[in-house]
Amino acid sequence: MRLGVMGGTFDPIHHGHLVAASEVQSLLALDEVVFVPTGEPWQKEGRDVAPAEHRYLMTVVATASNPRFTVSRVDIDRGGPTYTIDTLRDLHAQRPDAELFFITGADALAQILSWKDADELFGLAHFIGVTRPGYELSESGLPADRVDLQEVPAMAISSTDCRQRVRAGEPVWYLVPDGVVQYISKHHLYAAPAPSAATAP
Ligand code: ATP
Ligand code: MG
Repeated sequence: MRLGVMGGTFDPIHHGHLVAASEVQSLLALDEVVFVPTGEPWQKEGRDVAPAEHRYLMTVVATASNPRFTVSRVDIDRGGPTYTIDTLRDLHAQRPDAELFFITGADALAQILSWKDADELFGLAHFIGVTRPGYELSESGLPADRVDLQEVPAMAISSTDCRQRVRAGEPVWYLVPDGVVQYISKHHLYAAPAPSAATAP
């Protein structure tokens, strides 16, 4: 059993995530790719992240139609900030027979050596670094036998840009799956805060 692991904040999930996962699934003949939204409470780069339950459900909506895609709650249910080492330990405990392939974009791969327990990480999973527009993909400093670099179709999409677009009233159609566009709208995610009564004259 070859299991891909796609970790992310998924705030929101977009077609860059989905293309990367699909491409690696096909190229490496993975049986399944499990998407693992990060837990909360969690501050990322000084900003609030949408509640885990919303990020989880958007990930379910986005992946539901692909028979090889699944979503795991391990990081959400553990609570607190997510460390990839914990994700991999938990998935390994749940699926001891699976060979794990952790999929990560060029931006995140560059930071891997600074991750908690980097040495144990490489024992638990292979790492597949995928190309991402705007970032250099290199394996310098990473163990060559545990890291593979993979070119995937270039999708210049980020969750940050999607959130800014929603906030500015601009479209996110075709950047995220249709169901995610509708989910964001239904739950008023990423909208500009209403002017507070305190600041009214
Ligand atoms: P944010 O802007 O909030 O950081 P993001 O678009 O970077 O969001 P994350 O949830 O941070 O999305 O990323 C999860 C994983 O997906 C990371 O490994 C990241 O490198 C990868 N990834 C995100 N967007 C792309 C993309 N367009 N192409 C390839 N990989 C991507
Ligand atoms: Mg990111």
